[in-house]
Parts: sequence; structure tokens; C-alpha cells
Amino acid sequence: MHEKSRQELVNGLMSKGITDPEVLKAINNVERHKFLPKALEFHAYKDIALPIGCEQTISQPYTVAFMTQELQLKEGQKVLEIGTGSGYQAAILTNMGMKVYTIERQHDIYSLTRKLFDELGLRIYAKYGDGTIGWSEFAPYDGIIVTAASPDVPKSLKSQLAIGGRLVIPVGNKSTQTMKTLLRVDREEYQVKEHSAFTFVPLIGREGWKEK
Ligand code: SAM
Repeated sequence: MHEKSRQELVNGLMSKGITDPEVLKAINNVERHKFLPKALEFHAYKDIALPIGCEQTISQPYTVAFMTQELQLKEGQKVLEIGTGSGYQAAILTNMGMKVYTIERQHDIYSLTRKLFDELGLRIYAKYGDGTIGWSEFAPYDGIIVTAASPDVPKSLKSQLAIGGRLVIPVGNKSTQTMKTLLRVDREEYQVKEHSAFTFVPLIGREGWKEK
């Protein structure tokens, strides 16, 4: 079930410029419908973001594929995700063989997704808290992916990146953001690449948007 629609999704992503075979393989392997509320399963393999409750969303597959491709990680490397949400992005990274750490600030979402990881047998290190300050205990990370919109690049996340590691993050205002990839060249130097515009829900926390 769903194999055909997953393959069609992969074909669509290829036509939109996703080329990394490992990313495309993971999109083909991971059952996105399992990360959605039952009522929305029917839409799981459309290339669209969908609501997951608590005013949050599961990102569009193209966005997940684009950001994952930008990380340029290899099997066995360590990655930190800020904004666990449905858990789909974390599952894609796990399917590619990464060691995944993920943080979510909304307790209801965190609890549901953590339970789902257990049910699906996914070995993902999940934590409830403010991801803008990172997870220093396990730093440095070969990759950091921020799946919510930030007003700026959090300093804590930059400092928890390994030399040679990449941080992928949407930066801008609350309605639109520019996707950025920062490559940590050495202790003080980061090379920044800017991509096109994306739209995410806000990153709320000490080094993000302040809570109202
Ligand atoms: N990666 C998710 C997925 O695969 O479904 C999509 C994430 S959703 C677009 C953004 C998530 O970031 C929301 O669940 C939101 O609660 C969370 N978030 C916002 N600010 C955060 C913060 N400071 N730390 C951790 N999570 C945060």
C-alpha cells in the first residue's frame, strides 16, 4: 500500500531538482502517512505541508528533501534537529543511517512523537525543551537542521557545529524566510550560502522569537 504514490512523490522531487540518491531513497522508504493524523493519511504523498495539531505542521516533502540534501551528511554522522514536530524529518535522517538528536518545545507534540518513535522502533534521541540553545551534552554535531523560522542564526547552534559541519536554517521574518546553509570552516569562520524563500512556523525560544 502507498508504494506507488511514494514513487510518484520521489519522481516529483527529482523533477524539482533533488538529486541526492540517498535522500530520494529515504523518501521512498519512509512511510509519511504514519507521521500524520489518521484523517490526513490520504494526502500523505502529496508534496504539501499538512497540519499536525497545536498550530504546527509537518513540512512539505520538497522542503525536507532540500534541507536534508544541503546537510551533505554521511552514514554514521551525528545530526541535531530543532523542531521535532511529527518526527518525519528525524525518521528520514535515521533511515539514511545518521545518529539523530531532536528537540521539541511543545510538550503534547513531543510526547506523541516520542511514543511514535518507540512504536516504529526508531532509535532517535528526543528531548523536550528550547532547541534554540541546542543540546550541548552531545555536541559537536556534523549537521544541525532547524525546521522552524528564526529571526537570526542562534549563536548556541553555531557553536555546537563541528568544524566541517553544516547548519541549515530558514532565517527571516514570521511570514517568509531565506533558507541558509552555514559551513563551519574553522573555529571562527562560517561560509554562508543563501537559497530561495520558504515559509515555516516560528522558532520560539531564548535565541529565537520571544513568546507573546
Ligand atoms: N521537522 C518537523 C517534521 O518533520 O514534522 C516539522 C517541524 S514544524 C514545521 C516546527 C516545529 O518546531 C513545531 O513542532 C514547533 O513546536 C517546534 N519549535 C518551535 N520553536 C522551537 C524551539 N525553540 N525548540 C524546539 N522546537 C521548536
